[in-house]
Amino acid sequence: MILKNCYIYDELTGQEKLVDFLVDEKITAVKEELAKTISLENKTTIKLNELDQIKIAQINEHSEKYILDCEGTITIPGGIDPHVHFDTPGFTHREDFYHGSMSAAAGGVTTVIDMPCTSLPPVTDGKNFDEKFAAIKNESVIDFGLYGGVCANNFEQYEKSMEELAGKKVKGFKTYFVSGMKTFPQISLSQFESILLKAKELNLPVLLHAEDSEVVSAMTKKYENANNDYLRYCNSRPAQAEITAVKNAIEIVKRVDGNLHIVHVASSEAAKLVNQVRTDYKITYETCSHYLFFTHDDFKTKGSSLKTAPVVKSKKDQLELWKLLEDGNCSFVVSDHAPAPLYEKQTGSFWKDYGGIPGVQTLIPVIFSEGYKKQKLSLKRFTEVVSTNAAMRFNLYPKKGSLQPGSDADFAIINANISWKFETGYLLSKGETSPFDNEIFTGKVVLTILRGKIIYSDAAGIAVEKGYGRFLT
Ligand SMILES: [Zn+2]
Repeated sequence: MILKNCYIYDELTGQEKLVDFLVDEKITAVKEELAKTISLENKTTIKLNELDQIKIAQINEHSEKYILDCEGTITIPGGIDPHVHFDTPGFTHREDFYHGSMSAAAGGVTTVIDMPCTSLPPVTDGKNFDEKFAAIKNESVIDFGLYGGVCANNFEQYEKSMEELAGKKVKGFKTYFVSGMKTFPQISLSQFESILLKAKELNLPVLLHAEDSEVVSAMTKKYENANNDYLRYCNSRPAQAEITAVKNAIEIVKRVDGNLHIVHVASSEAAKLVNQVRTDYKITYETCSHYLFFTHDDFKTKGSSLKTAPVVKSKKDQLELWKLLEDGNCSFVVSDHAPAPLYEKQTGSFWKDYGGIPGVQTLIPVIFSEGYKKQKLSLKRFTEVVSTNAAMRFNLYPKKGSLQPGSDADFAIINANISWKFETGYLLSKGETSPFDNEIFTGKVVLTILRGKIIYSDAAGIAVEKGYGRFLT
């Protein structure tokens, strides 16, 4: 297939340009006006707005016969969301891999990395990995990697378990300083140090949920009561919980020269602590689309549909996080996709409502609309924070996250000028409530391509069978 008139950020020249792509499963050539140099005999040109289910099926069957004219849109490498909870097996009443992956495809995301803590059994050793893999290997419409995890359960086995997981090609090891999950309890600082050392030997990063358990339990004791007062809940998970945890983690990384990625940073003060050391040590961090879009004032209208851990913070945090994303201190944005059914999201008690939101489908629309369209992010930076940088951090680059010849032919094609209202009903996820409900975005993912096949179009929905998605080793 030829993708014609694609407006891209070109990482080789550092410029934005209009190019044509020649693709099969991989990108085979990228050139300005490439389509003009190729014989058009026996080739049909189709405009994006002419695509329907039948045409997409024909293109996917005989892609060598087609030229797709992407005029007027913006093309980026397929989105990469390296922080999702797709919950298969074990918690599939909340989400499953098939629905999660369809939701990703509809949001322009072609690769996810799934967390180890929200499946049963949790992915904490080789045997559990095999169980998880058997349950998901034929379920996904997008490509996926998996993390392993280390928690306080069976900690005495951690070295053997981490070796087994590394052998299964996990992309890193997830850990928690505070956890409410019985099947994945938090670790101590000394356990964290041991894990960092072992991960270093295995040449993999450790991922950390950085909220300090002592701060959280002291503040929860102070603020928890029978009232459904969202401000009291916010106070029970203050920025200080993140700041203390990040400080502790940095000290240990310095001591053992560890490789650490801090997940879902919501506090800009915590983020800035990492900035001070990230050039001398291998420490990176991500933030989430909800921390960039909402503040705790939004609980007034959004209620528990916005409840996550860490909780969204102040306007100051939000503005500073955008700045950190723009200036390159914050590596990338993730969704932390973790939906739950209404009966868990709306229990009647804000304190008991499930903390987690479906976000993989709205990640690119939010960052495109709020970041690129509002000129907080250049096209270069937008491309990096929703795709390239995560690929680099988790060793998927340049197979993923790149538009160069030899890379997988993964694309998200965005119509930059459509303003539209998102509704929860659009979710292909099992999630039943989204804080983004009724929000207006400018820019819409109109086509998602994975390894040269159209997997989603705005006009005709999901276009491949489950099982098309591959495990990334
Ligand atoms: Zn998470």
